[in-house]
Amino acid sequence: MEQFQDTVNFIQDTFKTEAFIPLHAPHFGGNEKKYLNDCIDSTFVSSVGEYVNLFEEKIAAYTGTKYAIACVNGTNALHMALLVANVKPEDEVVTQALTFIATANAISYIGAAPVFVDVDKDTMGLSPDALKNFLEQHAVKKPDGFTYNKTTGKKITACVPMHTFGFPARIDEIVAICKTWNIVLIEDAAESLGSYFKGKHTGGFGDMAVFSFNGNKTITCGGGGALVTNDEALAKQAKHLTTQAKEPHRWKFRHDAIGYNYRMPNVNAAIACAQLEQLDAIVENKRDLAEKYTAFFKEIGLDFAQEPKDTKANYWLNALVLKDEKTRDAFLNFTNDQGVMTRPIWDLMSTLPMFESCQHDGLKNSKWLEKRVVNIPSSYRP
Ligand SMILES: *Cc1c(COP(=O)(O)O)cnc(C)c1O
Repeated sequence: MEQFQDTVNFIQDTFKTEAFIPLHAPHFGGNEKKYLNDCIDSTFVSSVGEYVNLFEEKIAAYTGTKYAIACVNGTNALHMALLVANVKPEDEVVTQALTFIATANAISYIGAAPVFVDVDKDTMGLSPDALKNFLEQHAVKKPDGFTYNKTTGKKITACVPMHTFGFPARIDEIVAICKTWNIVLIEDAAESLGSYFKGKHTGGFGDMAVFSFNGNKTITCGGGGALVTNDEALAKQAKHLTTQAKEPHRWKFRHDAIGYNYRMPNVNAAIACAQLEQLDAIVENKRDLAEKYTAFFKEIGLDFAQEPKDTKANYWLNALVLKDEKTRDAFLNFTNDQGVMTRPIWDLMSTLPMFESCQHDGLKNSKWLEKRVVNIPSSYRP
C-alpha cells in the first residue's frame, strides 16, 4: 500500500493538483479557434473544404507516406483499408487479441473473421514469432498465390498488427512475413502518431495504415481518422469509396460503386490542422512525463513500460506491469478511490461473446499482460 500511496502522491505532484486526474485529456494550445472561425466564415463546414485537403497533405508528410485519406474516425478508416485490401466476407484477417475493440470490429464489418495471434511481452504488439508459427502450422500457400487456412479452408487476406499505447511492434519482421505469405499488411497505428521504429514513422511500413484523432488520442479533432499508403491505386480507390463513390462531374450525381460517407468534415479538419502544428511539442511533453515516471517507478520498485529497443515511442498512454491480478485490482481500487484515474488494459478480444469462437494460438503473453497491465495518467502538462 505504501507503493500505491507514493504513486498517488507522485502523480498529484506531477500534475500539480489534488482534484480528479483523468487518464488523458486533450490539449488545445494553438490555432484551433482561429482555424475553426475561418472554417465557419468560409461556410465550407462539411466534406469539401481547404482544411481537409491541407490535413491530408500534412499527415502524409508527417508520417512519411505518399497519400493520406481523411476519414470520419479511425474505425471507419480501418474498415476502408480492409475494403480496398480486397478482404471479402468469407476471408480471415490475422490480428492481435490484445487490442482495442475497433480493430476486431472493423474486420467484422466486412463479414470476415478475425484470427487472433499472440503479442510480444515487451512491445505488447503483434509478435512476428507468433505470426510465423501460426502460418507455418495452420496455413498453406496455394497455386493462386494466396494463403489459406488449412483448418477452415478460408483465405487469409490481411494482417492487422496494432502499435499498443504507441509502442511500436517489431514491424520490420512482420513486413517480411506478410511478403512471404502474400498477405496485405495494414498497421493499426491509431495510438502511435509520433512513434518511430528504427527512425521511420509507424504506419509507413504496411501496405496501408490508419490513425485516429479521437478525443483521447495524442492529438484530436473531436472525431477523426486517416488512412495512409504509398500505393497510388489504393489511395485513389479509398478516396473514391469514402466520398460515396461519386463519379467526378461538374453537376451530375452518378455513382459507380457502393460508396461510404466516410470523409472527414472540414470543421474537424480545421482543428486537426491546428493540432498537427503542436504534435512535436505534445510528444516531447509526454516523453518528458514518461522520463519522470521511469525514474520514480525505478526508485519505488514498480515495472513501468518503456519504449522497446530501436524505437521512439509517443508514450500515448503510460503503463505499469503489476505483479499479479490481485495486486492490479488493489492498485485500481486504491488510485481511483483517490481521484487518480487508472484503468486495466483491454479484455482480450477472444474472451468477448462475439469473438469467442474465433481461432487463436493460445495467446500466452496476451493472457499474462491482460491480468497485469494498467494505464496511469498521461496527459500533456502545461
Ligand atoms: C482509437 C483506436 C482506434 C480508432 O478509434 P476511433 O475512435 O474510431 O477514431 C482503432 N484502433 C485502436 C487500437 C485504437 O486505439
